[in-house]
Amino acid sequence: MAERPAANFLTFDTEEWYHANYDGMDPAALRGRGSNFPAQMEDLLALCAAAGARATFFVLGAVAEDHPGVVRAIAAAGHEIASHGYGHALAYRQTIDEFAADVRRSVAILEDVAGAAVRGYRAPSWSIVAANYHYLAVLEELGLVYDASVFPVRTFLYGIPDAPAHIHRPVVAGRTLNLWEIPTSVVRLAGRNMGYSGGFYFRLFPGLFIAYAIRRANRRGRPAVVYLHPRELDPGERRLTLPAKEAFIHYHGIGGARAKLVSLLQKFTFTSVIDHLRTLDPTLK
Ligand SMILES: [Zn+2]
Repeated sequence: MAERPAANFLTFDTEEWYHANYDGMDPAALRGRGSNFPAQMEDLLALCAAAGARATFFVLGAVAEDHPGVVRAIAAAGHEIASHGYGHALAYRQTIDEFAADVRRSVAILEDVAGAAVRGYRAPSWSIVAANYHYLAVLEELGLVYDASVFPVRTFLYGIPDAPAHIHRPVVAGRTLNLWEIPTSVVRLAGRNMGYSGGFYFRLFPGLFIAYAIRRANRRGRPAVVYLHPRELDPGERRLTLPAKEAFIHYHGIGGARAKLVSLLQKFTFTSVIDHLRTLDPTLK
């Protein structure tokens, strides 16, 4: 039987197989090497349509340049187009001016290609951390409505372990921003926050555990944030050559991710971030 809790967020970081930020990698050098991206996106849009789910696609500016037809198909299907930056550069490796230019450039490309306003942003690899938290004020200045870059966990790659785990207005330099923060979902395990609803965690944990954690979030009135990458649903995609630990994080469980997503789409109601925010603030366009 389908469950009908508060809507959850279905989000896709819309990028190619080579958009990763491990040491020594340069995604731009792999641009144009070919990919299954258009077929992956066709599959994803068909899954969403079959489930009646609306999603938020955080799209890279470079991907919109390479695949404008795909971006237009996402928008035509009624989904939200948001920004994932231009070329997957880490926010904390950029100066605040470089960051502003990167976000502005991606938003301009996406709005031009999709013909719709961009309202949200998610940094590549959750690269809004304590050291560059004030970069969120840039998103407010650019007129964006929300950010979805904060992961309230501690890992070797990213995270702000003590960040609020619910939707809130971030405070920067003592000022509450006119911006929503949509933190990525966590569960509390052995006194630590841990992700469960996307990427590596989604591939690692059994589908039943993920469904249990989503239900638990929903009982507390919180939407869960599911986040996936097109390449994670396609075991046949080209692969990066990575050291063992990075390869595990990047590819473990990739054969089962699509079936887990299909199962969750049957069990839960999903919507886009902006549609949910409109229920919190009816003046939002
Ligand atoms: Zn990404």
